[in-house]
Order: sequence, then C-alpha cells, then structure tokens
Amino acid sequence: MNSIKTVAVIGAGMAGLAAARVLADAGLAVTLFDKGRQPGGRLATRRVANWIFNHGCQFFTIRDADFEVAVRPVSTPWSPVFPKAEEKFAGVPDMAAVANHLATGLDVRQHAHVRALARREANWILRFDDGKAAAFDALVLAIPAPQAAALLAGLHPDYEARLKSIHLAPCWAVMLGFESPPPRSALETILDVPPWPEGIWASWQGGGDTPVSWAVRENTRPHAPKTPPAYTFHCSAAWSKNHLEDDPKDVIAAVLAGGWAFGTHTPAHAAAHRWRYALAENPLGEPCLWDEKTRLGLCGDWCLAPRLEAAFLSGRALAQRITK
Ligand SMILES: Cc1cc2nc3c(=O)[nH]c(=O)nc-3n(C[C@H](O)[C@H](O)[C@H](O)COP(=O)(O)OP(=O)(O)OC[C@H]3O[C@@H](n4cnc5c(N)ncnc54)[C@H](O)[C@@H]3O)c2cc1C
Repeated sequence: MNSIKTVAVIGAGMAGLAAARVLADAGLAVTLFDKGRQPGGRLATRRVANWIFNHGCQFFTIRDADFEVAVRPVSTPWSPVFPKAEEKFAGVPDMAAVANHLATGLDVRQHAHVRALARREANWILRFDDGKAAAFDALVLAIPAPQAAALLAGLHPDYEARLKSIHLAPCWAVMLGFESPPPRSALETILDVPPWPEGIWASWQGGGDTPVSWAVRENTRPHAPKTPPAYTFHCSAAWSKNHLEDDPKDVIAAVLAGGWAFGTHTPAHAAAHRWRYALAENPLGEPCLWDEKTRLGLCGDWCLAPRLEAAFLSGRALAQRITK
C-alpha cells in the first residue's frame, strides 16, 4: 500500500461500504461521499406517512463467510420466489437497516455529490456541488459504471473505455399505499395465492411490453411493522427501457392498468422511482479495477454480477488490492 494514507470512496452503497470497512480496518483514513440522503444506494427503504417501501434490492444471497459476518446481524431468511432455489435473506426490519449497520463507525458524508475529479501532482481532487474541494492520496469509485465513466472523462482513458462498455438496465419502481386492504387483485388471481389480508409473497416474470416483473406486499416481509397495506412493483427491464423518460404519473397509471389493478380501490399514496442504473447486463468479469500508478480503484456490482453480495465481494476485493 506504500505511501497511501488517505482514501476517498465515492458511493456509500454496498460496494463502497465493504471497501471502506477493509481500508479503515487496515488503518487508512477513509472518507465516504454519497449524494443520497442515507447510505445504501440501491439497497433502499422509503418511508412515507405510515407506509414503508423497500423499492430497490428485494432480498439477497449469503454465500461468502465475510458477507455473512457483515450482514447476518441485520438479516433474516426470506425466500419469496417460488420455486425456492436457494435460501435468500432480507434486512431487518427493512433493507436500509443493512446499509446503516455497515456504515456504523465509518466516516460517511451524505448529501455530498461529487461533481468533478481532477489530478494535482500525486493527489486526487474531488469537487462538490457547493464548490468546495478535497484532496486524497487514493480514490475509489464505488458507483455504477456509466456514472464512473462520466466522472473519469479524460482522466484515465483505459478505464473510461472499459466502463463505457458496461450497460446497466433501468428499473421503474412503483409504490402504492392504501388506507385499508384492497380486494383480491389480479395479481393474486394469476398466482393463485391467498388474498392480500392473509399475506402474500409474489413474484411474476413479465415480458415484452408488460410493465410488471415483480410485486410484493411490503407488510408480509419478515419483521415488517404493522402498517397500512403497501405494495412495491418493479417494472421489467424491457418495459423500463421503453418508458425511461416517461412521466412518473404515466408509469403509475401503466402499472395500475396493466392487469394489476386493485379494482376501484384507489391508493392513498402512489409514487414512482426511476432506477436509471439498476442491474448490470454485461458485468466486467473481474472483481474490481485497481491502478497502482494513479491510485485509482473501481468497484461495484457491475464488476461481477447484478446482486448485492457481488457488490460486497467487489468492494472487498478492491480494498484488499489497495492494502496488499
Ligand atoms: C430495483 C432493484 C432490484 C434489485 N433486486 C435485487 C435483489 O433482489 N437481489 C440482489 O442481490 N440484488 C438486487 N438488486 C441489485 C443490488 O441492489 C445492487 O447489486 C447493489 O445494491 C449495488 O451496490 P453498489 O454499491 O455496487 O451500487 P449502488 O447501490 O448503486 O451505490 C452507489 C452509490 O453511489 C452514489 N453516487 C453515485 N454517483 C455519485 C456521485 N457523483 N457523488 C456521490 N455519490 C454518488 C449513489 O448515491 C449510491 O448510493 C436490485 C437493484 C435494483 C435497482
């Protein structure tokens, strides 16, 4: 690790948090910068009035021993997909709890949008929204490949080209909150599962221009608090691509109309969130990228696979390269 003392990690999602933990444990001064309100990135939970929506990552595998140590205290088995291929886990009490747990004790700066990067002598300079700047010995980009490519423009042509070859499919997420349980819906009928009030898990693979590829009743997640009915829908990659620039109102209308309607039961709350970079379609095939000469590292799920655990493995791999 030679003379590296300070490291900036841009992105406090799973990959950035995993990298920061290893770097901090090795004695480096690590600062995480994230433009969001809370750590986690695509591992996200949104609270609106009495409703709770986990509108990003739904559940995750735990195969790696280090990952188990890191997330097990805030995870519980939850395998809602049928047929059950492998035991999956969910955060307790919600998905954001996993990120909050991993961020404990780390220096995480939220609302810190890194707008530009520059090199000054051997240092990396980060420039923020408010015009302030900060210098670090080494830089870790733990953000989706297209965003990393944009930040690195002209600074590292080799990595920039590799990043530009990685594509992440978008995903529209629709969140519906009701004051009281809606009647048996088309979703339940198709899946032949019990009515909503008795609880439901549901996974449905849409195709073509069908909007919905996944639906869940939030209140049936393990340890979910007893809140009014809340549903999260994910639109398929194909549909989300075709409707990427749609108005959120139209996306909500399409989900409600697309055979998933709740009859005349109107949601008291409806919102749509666009994950512009949701799932890597052609991962890099390497755990991370690290350039010793410029002290620049890149990690994220897009290196290995579109999964939460892959993001952890990527972040850890990069930190281990840096501290070798
Ligand atoms: C809808 C959806 C469903 C999913 N379902 C599953 C699932 O069921 N199981 C599973 O295993 N995986 C799932 N995933 C994938 C999983 O969420 C991701 O693989 C994982 O969370 C990626 O972590 P990451 O750290 O690589 O990136 P991210 O979580 O994207 O973190 C990147 C962070 O960088 C920040 N950032 C970006 N640019 C800047 C900047 N310029 N300045 C400051 N901060 C910046 C962002 O705010 C973000 O917090 C899903 C993802 C989505 C979107």
